[in-house]
Amino acid sequence: MSFEKLKVIAPILKALTNQGYTQPTPVQEQSIPVILQQRDLFGCAQTGTGKTAAFAIPVLQLLYQQKQTVKHTASIKALVLTPTRELAIQIQESFEAYGKNTGLNQVVIFGGVSQWSQVNALKKGVDILVATPGRLLDLIEQKIVNISNINLLVLDEADRMLDMGFVHDVKKIIARTPKQKQTLFFSATMAPAIRKLANSLLIDPVMVEVTPVATTAETIEQRVCFVDKKDKPALLLHMMTKTAIPMALVFTRTKHGADRVAKELNRSGVRAEAIHGNKSQQARQKALHQFRSKQIKVLVATDIAARGIDIDELSHVINYELPNVPETYVHRIGRTGRAGASGIALSFCDREEKLYLRDIQKLISRAIPVEEEHPFRDAAFQNASRQPSRKNYVGGTQANRFSRANKRRPSYNKAVQ
Ligand code: AMP
Repeated sequence: MSFEKLKVIAPILKALTNQGYTQPTPVQEQSIPVILQQRDLFGCAQTGTGKTAAFAIPVLQLLYQQKQTVKHTASIKALVLTPTRELAIQIQESFEAYGKNTGLNQVVIFGGVSQWSQVNALKKGVDILVATPGRLLDLIEQKIVNISNINLLVLDEADRMLDMGFVHDVKKIIARTPKQKQTLFFSATMAPAIRKLANSLLIDPVMVEVTPVATTAETIEQRVCFVDKKDKPALLLHMMTKTAIPMALVFTRTKHGADRVAKELNRSGVRAEAIHGNKSQQARQKALHQFRSKQIKVLVATDIAARGIDIDELSHVINYELPNVPETYVHRIGRTGRAGASGIALSFCDREEKLYLRDIQKLISRAIPVEEEHPFRDAAFQNASRQPSRKNYVGGTQANRFSRANKRRPSYNKAVQ
């Protein structure tokens, strides 16, 4: 899937390319078309899933298209409510980055600082206002902000807004908005109080839920093999010939990598096929059929190609390369251990992938046990990477996980296809 396929318009596409975004995340893939159809949306997604862009991109697009047809006024057209100052700033920066070629402007307001610079910014005219509830209500009551003409309302992290006691402020703010508007409601949980609030605000909403990736299936046994990069082909061959693994779905980060791994296995007498975006639909179907009917022992896949494929009785998933997005790990290993069946996920980790492993372990809140029993152990690296105890991870915050990973790896996603 690409942003073009989601019908994102050229000025925004250009900005996304600048950001290094090459493909939408699952929540973006599901939300963008719904929002562009001007439907209300209930998005159940956590920070780190790309949910900000999931609403910011289509909101910018709708406003941009509206600007072409309707006379542009200085009034606020979209309001984003979010619980904290940090989130508010991040959201405003996202709008600024994705919307830099649209001519739309955005202002952020939050409490705890003098209101005057915010008031000055507001006076210049605002298309998109990002705000925390307390300060917004304050400025509405002072008649500095008027939200009676908005077309779009976004409630970001609604669950946290409730937890932080903003529910009354939020309700008061919503009462100042027009009845006729599009509402986008995002929450990490679907607790009863959240459902109730959503029901009171949304009209015939489309529900978008991205799997709560932080919970890896209990039935999947996970292990990591520390190995030198150059030994990965030999380790895979060892696993497929010298152990009792009957069949395996092997993941690589790139199409080229998938082809290479399949070729090497075939050369050594292990029947394998690769599936990825450069293969025709027919070739992919054929490979899948051969795998399901056990004519081939290994299916090598990139993440996108593997999406949606369901293979009964898949006993093993092997991460030949660790994914650079930790959530992807959870999606990959979830291909095995389905419907209560047991499954094993083995991850080959070389020195360059150490940070990826760290991010994955943080996400799943546990250390993955080390597989000691293989002949290609990179012992020096393994000792240097001694697994921290489980409790080190439990306290890790979900917030910023994705963004931290991103900052360290600006080429995020570029290799994923
Ligand atoms: P969020 O869940 O909105 O907090 O987003 C987490 C991080 O993911 C942010 O740093 C974004 O810049 C980044 N991000 C969002 N969408 C994409 C994408 N399609 N490709 C790459 N990075 C993304």
